[in-house]
Amino acid sequence: MTLDHDPGPTASGPRWRLLILGGTAEARALAATATTRPDVAVVSSLAGRVADPRLPVGEVRIGGFGGAAGLADWLTAHRIDAVVDATHPYAARMRVSGIEAAATAGVPHLRLERPGWTAQPGDRWHRVPDLAGAVAALPALGRRVLLTTGRQSLAAFSPLTDLWFLARVVDAPDDPVPAHVRLLRSRGPYTVDGEIALIREHRIDVVVTKDSGGALTEAKLTAARRLDLPVLMIDRPAPATPPATVTTVDDAVRWLDRHLPAG
Ligand code: NAP
Repeated sequence: MTLDHDPGPTASGPRWRLLILGGTAEARALAATATTRPDVAVVSSLAGRVADPRLPVGEVRIGGFGGAAGLADWLTAHRIDAVVDATHPYAARMRVSGIEAAATAGVPHLRLERPGWTAQPGDRWHRVPDLAGAVAALPALGRRVLLTTGRQSLAAFSPLTDLWFLARVVDAPDDPVPAHVRLLRSRGPYTVDGEIALIREHRIDVVVTKDSGGALTEAKLTAARRLDLPVLMIDRPAPATPPATVTTVDDAVRWLDRHLPAG
């Protein structure tokens, strides 16, 4: 990890500077590949929400930029040549900031976003557009809830005092949780057997999740299917104007090769 500073140009230094907006496995995978190019200096950025984040390979800066204007200034001050926004599909503010800042600074921008999950035969998914929709729909679906939507969503569900929640979070929320919420601090990946055991142990009868996609946290969906449980799935926030987007790290690497050509 390094401090948030500009090391400055060097005669023999890398030709290009890449910013990866991170906090996901895809961002770490892209950093691991991009740092193998000696002509590209890679800086990964994390929000600083998690106490003990998984760090990508290479230089890392931590903390917000101060909105789109702050990020635009940062891009210019650090002479960034390309931005890949690989933040989580639900990091809606950062996504908008990245688009606006890159446009202001005149820097090529790419969104790397993994696909959402697809329902399979036997799944009992109920899709809702947002958190408020999930809170409204949940009481009709179950009484004992495995809640996997993150600590920032706990306050929205807390008024549902007739339900019991097993809230799985990476870090505990700042405020104490009410009696009908039990915290389970853990971080994936998870296995189907482990998820089935957890659901049985706590007599869970409904699972609430974001449509995060990817393999690391998918086991809960397989477990719910096997146990014939409903899943309340909160849809992704849809951007007003979707940016140029790829869904795989390989495609992001190809984009980099075009925008930051070697040699
Ligand atoms: P958010 O609501 O879109 O972002 C809130 C603010 O946090 C942004 O305006 C920005 O502050 C700062 N920020 C977010 N991502 C940043 C990054 N990569 N580097 C520097 N600053 C960043 O995002 P969020 O949903 O709170 O997610 C925060 C981070 O956790 C993201 O990096 C995301 O990839 C990761 N994450 C989120 C989820 C989720 O479910 N939301 C799940 C897993 C991981 P400024 O405006 O001051 O620049």
